[in-house]
Amino acid sequence: MKTKTLQGTKKIKPQDVKTIVDTFKEGGLVVFPTETVYGLGADGTNPKALKKIFKAKGRPGDNPLILHIARRDQLQGIVAEVSKEAEALMDAFWPGPLTLIFKRKATIPDEVTAGLDTVAVRMPSHKVAHEILDAVNRPIAAPSANISGRPSTTTYKRVYEDLNGLVDIIVDGGQADVGIESTVVDTTVTPPMVLRPGKITVEELDDVVPGMTIDETIISKDDGKVPKSPGQKYKHYAPRAEAYCFVGNVNNVIAHINKAIAEHGSEKIAVLATDETMDSYQGAYFLKSMGSRDHLETIAQNLFEYLRECDDEAVDIIFVEGFEMRGLGVSIMNRLLKACGGRVKFGL
Ligand code: AMP
Ligand code: MG
Repeated sequence: MKTKTLQGTKKIKPQDVKTIVDTFKEGGLVVFPTETVYGLGADGTNPKALKKIFKAKGRPGDNPLILHIARRDQLQGIVAEVSKEAEALMDAFWPGPLTLIFKRKATIPDEVTAGLDTVAVRMPSHKVAHEILDAVNRPIAAPSANISGRPSTTTYKRVYEDLNGLVDIIVDGGQADVGIESTVVDTTVTPPMVLRPGKITVEELDDVVPGMTIDETIISKDDGKVPKSPGQKYKHYAPRAEAYCFVGNVNNVIAHINKAIAEHGSEKIAVLATDETMDSYQGAYFLKSMGSRDHLETIAQNLFEYLRECDDEAVDIIFVEGFEMRGLGVSIMNRLLKACGGRVKFGL
C-alpha cells in the first residue's frame, strides 16, 4: 500500500480533512496526532476496517480498542449507562488524556471491545485530532500507532518507521505533548478504578472522585496476577536491547548503574539518565538525559523517543533511571516496568 502524508501540526487544510473523512468512510486506516501519542485510526462502526488495525499493528485480537469522539453527544450511540462518577470525570478532564470504560451498547462491534461487555472512550484535546473526529462524526477506534510490543510513537518519523506501507494516510502533527498514553479508568465499578496510569494522575482523579482505586498489578513486578485491562498483560514498549531500571536514592542509583556499566564493559551500553545525574556516569556508549527530575512531564514526553534512539544506536543493553511511585512517576514506572520486561531493581 502507498502511504500518503498530510500536514497537521497545528492546523489542517479543509481538503485534507475531507480526504481523511473519505478514507475512514471507505474503511481505510489513518494515523493522526493526539496530545498523548499518535493514534492508528479506523471507523469504529466498521468491523472490516477494525480488523485492519489488528493486522497492521500485529495486535493480539483479545486487546480491545479505545473509541475516540469529538463531542459528548456521541456517547449516546456507544454506551449503555453513565455513572455520576463518570459524569464528574468527564466534566473535569474531557477533552484530554483520560479514557473511561463504560457498559457498552450491544451495537458496538466485537472488534472494538474484544468481546467484553464494556467499551473504552476518549475525547482528545489535540486540535487536529478534534477537527478530524468532528468532521467524520463517527467514533474512531485508535490504538497507539506502533507495531505491537514496540514503544508508542510520539513523532511522525517514528510512525513512518513502523507503519509506512501499512496505512493509507499519516498525518504529521509534530511531537506529541504528553508522550505517554491516556489514563484508563473503569467507571463501571464503584469506586472507579485506574486500569492504566497516564498523564492524569491518581491524585488528580481522586480530587474529583474521592476513593479512586488503582489496579495494583500494573505498578508492581509481575507476580502472576492478571491485570484487569487486557492490554496490560502484554510485553510492551520494548526496545530491542534488554533494558534494566534502577529505582531509589539517586546516589545509590548512580552507583549501581556505574557498577553495571563496569561489569558489562565489552558491550555497547546506553544510559538514560536525568539532568541532575548526567555528569555522574562513566563508560556509556550512548548517554542521554530524559529531562529534569523536577519536571516529570518532560521525562514522560521523551521516554518512548529515547528508548527508540537506543535502538537507532544499536546498543546491546540499556540502563534507565527510575522514579518514585508518586504522581506522574507512577505512569512512567508502569511504562518502564513493561519496557524492561520486569527487570527493575527497587529500593536502592
Ligand atoms: P492503546 O490503544 O495501545 O493505548 O491501548 C488501549 C488500552 O485500553 C489497552 O490497554 C486496552 O486493554 C485498554 N482497553 C480498551 N478497552 C478496554 C475495556 N473495555 N476494558 C478494559 N481495558 C480496555
Ligand atoms: Mg499501545
